[in-house]
Amino acid sequence: MFQPPCCPNPLCPSRSSGQFTYQCRGSFRRALDQRLVQRYRCGACGKFFSDQSFRLDYRLKRPRLTEPAFWMFASKVTHRQTARLLRCARGTVRHRLELLGAHCRTFHARQRLRLAGHLEAAFALDELETYETDRRLKPLTVPVLLHEPTWFVLDLQVAPMASRGGLREVDQVRRDLLRQREGVRRSESTSAVARCLANAAALLAPEARGLLRSDEKHTYVRLKQQHLPAGIQHARISSQEPRGMNNPLFRINRTLAMMRDGVSRLVRRTWAASKTREQLEKHLWVWTVFRNYVRRRVNRSVGESAASALGLFPGPLPTNDLLGLCPQFRTDPPLQRAAS
Ligand SMILES: [Zn+2]
Repeated sequence: MFQPPCCPNPLCPSRSSGQFTYQCRGSFRRALDQRLVQRYRCGACGKFFSDQSFRLDYRLKRPRLTEPAFWMFASKVTHRQTARLLRCARGTVRHRLELLGAHCRTFHARQRLRLAGHLEAAFALDELETYETDRRLKPLTVPVLLHEPTWFVLDLQVAPMASRGGLREVDQVRRDLLRQREGVRRSESTSAVARCLANAAALLAPEARGLLRSDEKHTYVRLKQQHLPAGIQHARISSQEPRGMNNPLFRINRTLAMMRDGVSRLVRRTWAASKTREQLEKHLWVWTVFRNYVRRRVNRSVGESAASALGLFPGPLPTNDLLGLCPQFRTDPPLQRAAS
């Protein structure tokens, strides 16, 4: 039985005093799916609320679209095609991306916190390159940090990169116009990678030992020294190494390839590319949650997801569970075992 953890009214005095009491005040059947919804009255502010107030589909006109939209966002279906398939407006798809992007980011952030002190340092780092609106003038980088043994995507960031060099004359004119409008575009790759490493370091035990694998980009050396404990080794792998399963960076390379294969706006030579990096980031959090919590860890690992290999859940999460309660109101099972 769900028990309301707090009053949903942000102005309720119980939010600051911590003295939350409630009474059950009847129930109703939701017309859409006949689900029985319990109603409550807050003992502090007297406002009424219900089970529904804590759910992702609270006050949605078409809540049934959320789950298929989640699958399509992780399955390389473009926004326009999602609208056609779900027989809804593009604005509805855009709204679902807003909703799911925020939900998935918070969900993953809270799950990551559960790993604090249990995470084994076996990381692989790489950056995926893409763009917003214009491939030459507005490139983006997406650093991704992977927990290698479990294929769990620990963190990702989206950051701008400077406009490309060697531009044609016509592109140089467009770049100058862009500079007048938005200022000089500078690369924020280094700070984005630093945030990835610092977020992971916060989950490690102080004396943690382990390994970070990356390519030979020279800034990684300094960033590793600054943000990860000294007991963690840094293996830098040459890009000349043959690709394939024997390449030490196989898992991170494969993860980035899967990301390109699952997120419509990352497909190469596409006309469905991102217009803004904010939208790309929301889309990537939806994919990350699908990859970590819903999909099998690898195709042959039946009943196991990347998150379940880390002990966060007993197995892959059903989407009705994942997309039910808002993350801050969930009670998750205790960590199954130390992460390995
Ligand atoms: Zn209240």
